[in-house]
Amino acid sequence: MKALIIGAGGVGTVVTQKIAANPVFSEVMLASRTKSKCDAVAAAIGGGRVQTAQVDADSVQELCTLFRAFRPDIVVNVALPYQDLTIMDACLECGANYLDTANYEPKDEAHFEYSWQWAYQDRFKAKGLTAILGCGFDPGVTAIFTAYAAKHHFDEIHYLDIVDCNAGNHGMAFATNFNPEINIREVTQKGRYYENGRWVVTEPHEIHKPLHYPEIGERESYVIYHEELESLVKNYPTIRRARFWMTFGQEYLTHLRVIQNIGMARIDPIVYNGVEIVPIQFLKAVLPDPKSLGANYHGQTSIGCRIRGVKDGKERTYYIYNNCDHEQAFRETGTQAVSFTTGVPAALGASMWAKGLWRGAGVFNVEEFDPDPFLAELGEQGLPWVEKFDVDLEV
Ligand code: NDP
Repeated sequence: MKALIIGAGGVGTVVTQKIAANPVFSEVMLASRTKSKCDAVAAAIGGGRVQTAQVDADSVQELCTLFRAFRPDIVVNVALPYQDLTIMDACLECGANYLDTANYEPKDEAHFEYSWQWAYQDRFKAKGLTAILGCGFDPGVTAIFTAYAAKHHFDEIHYLDIVDCNAGNHGMAFATNFNPEINIREVTQKGRYYENGRWVVTEPHEIHKPLHYPEIGERESYVIYHEELESLVKNYPTIRRARFWMTFGQEYLTHLRVIQNIGMARIDPIVYNGVEIVPIQFLKAVLPDPKSLGANYHGQTSIGCRIRGVKDGKERTYYIYNNCDHEQAFRETGTQAVSFTTGVPAALGASMWAKGLWRGAGVFNVEEFDPDPFLAELGEQGLPWVEKFDVDLEV
């Protein structure tokens, strides 16, 4: 099986290491906008195992030229969400399967929904190809945790709260844990959650409360919109309410407010010295590269699902989560825990497909596949998970 990874950022670094270490893949290539970054990742892995290439993933034509030369069986897209559709188009044109970790976003609008990618369903089906959407940690493992809960522990899921805590400290006043442009667009948008068949919209960070995270303690947690809610309420129609909580420190929120107030989070172009620039893209250029945070990052992330529903006529609660240590992630891959927790599931999802365990013609969200083989291997790959039954969910 041949795997082509697109995007040589923090996540791409982890995906490439994990795929290169997996014997199910006979050939591995990492391609990105800047080839020197691919070469550095390949050199660190060594042994000539990883081939590299330059590609502009905004161009279907450039992608197809590369795909026709390398002939990948599966393409793992860990570039930016802007490239999802061009990469899917190229997969269709050249007969490759597809996997990503973030849903498509148009550059000129911070708008998160699956409709653009779900619209490819018939075309992937007609070609007999598989497209796997949202196979990072969240989206990704959170949806697989939910599928596992539905398969083994509940007849009906009624309340789903996904909780995402990063209790790490990188020693910087302000930095984002993944691509700053995508991260700031995501966390500054209005909050949104699902309740009784409709979406409730809130002001950004309007709903918040302290939640306790295992081995970490209490952290203020904020309801924000996150893309897996859209597919999970569709695939589990018994859900009455679904929310996503993320922790933010006061220092982070203060910086974010200033960035917004002074216009640096704007995504529309402005003219500066006769040149068009997009303020948030300029901001990205001066903020720390998320890949560089790993060396001084201490503490853990804790991401999981808190679920209430019924089993055999009785109400029950269930909490399934993973804690990941920034220092351990750095020791293994040279990246911090956010890149690690995203890259490991993406590589494992590609492996599930390559081994024939996750297959099908069409476009799938990860909860539509069997969660068991994936979760059986996730711990070995560096992300062990824990289950707790009948505990106070706090939410
Ligand atoms: P980075 O910004 O570190 O890396 C993105 C990489 O993609 C860069 O190497 C960049 O190239 C490359 N790239 C950007 N545009 C193009 C293009 N047009 N053609 C080719 N390559 C391109 O981001 P991260 O590694 O932090 O994140 C990668 C993805 O993972 C994002 O989509 C993010 O949303 C997603 N993610 C998902 C999570 C989850 O749990 N599901 C969590 C965290 C992230 P260059 O180096 O030249 O800029």
